[in-house]
Amino acid sequence: MRIADIGGEFTLIERLCAHVPAVHKNLLAGIGDDAAVIGGIQADGSHLLVTTDMLVENSHFKCEWAAPEQIGIKSVVCNVSDIAAMGGTPTFMFVSLALPPTTEVEWAESLYRGMGRACRRYGVILAGGDTTHGAAVTINIALLGRVAPENLCLRSHARPGDLLCVTGPVGTAAAGLAMMSAGFETPDLLKEKHLTPGCRLDVSPAIAPRAHAMIDISDGLAAEVNHICKQSKTGAEIVAADIPLHPLAVEAARLTENDPLSFALSGGEDFELLFSIAPQDRQQLERRGIDVVTVGKVTDAAAGIFLRMPDGKSQALAGGYNHFS
Ligand code: ADP
Ligand code: MG
Repeated sequence: MRIADIGGEFTLIERLCAHVPAVHKNLLAGIGDDAAVIGGIQADGSHLLVTTDMLVENSHFKCEWAAPEQIGIKSVVCNVSDIAAMGGTPTFMFVSLALPPTTEVEWAESLYRGMGRACRRYGVILAGGDTTHGAAVTINIALLGRVAPENLCLRSHARPGDLLCVTGPVGTAAAGLAMMSAGFETPDLLKEKHLTPGCRLDVSPAIAPRAHAMIDISDGLAAEVNHICKQSKTGAEIVAADIPLHPLAVEAARLTENDPLSFALSGGEDFELLFSIAPQDRQQLERRGIDVVTVGKVTDAAAGIFLRMPDGKSQALAGGYNHFS
């Protein structure tokens, strides 16, 4: 049986993890959130956060398109984004590298220069790693962080009646990728969103104390809404017309003959945040000048997970990036 036959990475992860002890009294959230949450071990009462993400040459980046500095930045950002999604702040980082023996030393140094830029921006300290040889450049980063218990936002914390909000336009990175893949002259902003995205650690500390569930948008809005609903045992209704799209992403969709909505729902790596929040707390965010967009609401599980289209009809909210299909 192949991985695609069992439904992709998430079914695989479930099957694999059943073979290993994965429950402990201090492990407040393990497999299934953006980062693991370990409580009861830090002297200041905060929870320890741990996340890890891997980038593989030709699957996650192409050396013809991305300079090593850009790959370095992205490899740090996708991890910081997972810590931000928990409501936390990043602290220490470990970098494991597999490099083909033909790799230029200058290339690897530039990769680390890019990591350094991102680490300075987000307050991350390099604390170790591992280096070996391999057929393709493979970069794995494990990132630690901390979160005050009252700021912790788990995927399982959404409640029916919450609003679902995003911190910015979605589908922009996918638009950049589509333009570059099709060989179009790609606007700088779209290229940048795909090659050197930022993450939303700038707003997450203000959102986290008020939000219930939070997740970063790395596999498309549809996948992330489904993750929150599955873990919170709720339904959701997303309003297609309310999903914020960048005008350049709309134009990219026209040029590449794509639907801009599918960039937003199924395109990956926007690294904006999706969160659920009570309506009165959403208003408080607005008063504090935190710019977020409401895209739908959390409902009871029985109501299902739907996308309301501009013509008023609803369809199942499906889609999202699957690494094995
Ligand atoms: P994200 O997109 O936020 O990085 P993933 O979709 O990669 O999260 O992972 C979902 C969850 O599954 C996370 O809790 C992650 O730690 C866990 N996970 C992913 N791959 C494995 C694996 N091979 N073994 C154990 N846990 C895994
Ligand atoms: Mg994530």
